[in-house]
Amino acid sequence: MIKASNIHKSYGNLEVLKGVNLHIKAGEVISIVGESGAGKSTLLQILGTLDTPTQPKNYNTEITLAGESFINMNDKQISKFRNQNIGFVFQFHQLLPEFTALENVLIPTKIAGANEKEAIEKAYALFEDLKIEQRLHHKPNQLSGGEAQRVAVARALINSPKIIYADEPTGNLDSKNADDLHRLFFDLRDKYNQTFVIVTHNPNLAEITDRKLVMKDGMIIE
Ligand code: ADP
Ligand code: ADP
Repeated sequence: MIKASNIHKSYGNLEVLKGVNLHIKAGEVISIVGESGAGKSTLLQILGTLDTPTQPKNYNTEITLAGESFINMNDKQISKFRNQNIGFVFQFHQLLPEFTALENVLIPTKIAGANEKEAIEKAYALFEDLKIEQRLHHKPNQLSGGEAQRVAVARALINSPKIIYADEPTGNLDSKNADDLHRLFFDLRDKYNQTFVIVTHNPNLAEITDRKLVMKDGMIIE
């Protein structure tokens, strides 16, 4: 699903990624762990097309998602590629407060120009998968933290992305809600063969993922 080689990133003189290589197979649930400042978020942002590697030509950097290289795409191409292929979940749900849960989840389908009826059917199915079907018409401030984060996961999944990148998705949840959300990730993998890459400090999650990548000082060391 993902093949990446020689990813470098510098901020001025600070070398944050020092040549990262990785392969991720379809349907894998991968965790990325490591001390604060190791470069985990930066790596996720680059794999997710939200940031760009430094001097890709000099370093012979290559990143492909399902065989498609994206590091030379222009801004317009990359926005479309991202919306169609990549879902994101962050530590804070980042739902729009004035819209209901369902409306929030449908936003990416409108950007993609998807058929509205099919989009709503897919949304209903995801709300059931994520056990939030009672919360379709609630606004974010009427949802618990765990529910809001599950709505954010539904929004990440609605366009059937090839991969989901999650940066500390349970960092703001209590341990029961965190464990519940982790279980749902695996359910979604089993049902849709969904691929997940999850940056986490949560040891429960890191121990149950298919593979745990350990980052230190800008490299994957394990
Ligand atoms: P970022 O990726 O934005 O640099 P951080 O690595 O600083 O994020 O941390 C993200 C969250 O994880 C923060 O809420 C922070 O308090 C928490 N955190 C950071 N380091 C640890 C750790 N070693 N153990 C548990 N939680 C941590
Ligand atoms: P992690 O997610 O493992 O905590 P990050 O990828 O967030 O690590 O950060 C790695 C290093 O890059 C840190 O030293 C951080 O301060 C630095 N960094 C991240 N983003 C920027 C930025 N936009 N400008 C300058 N330095 C940054």
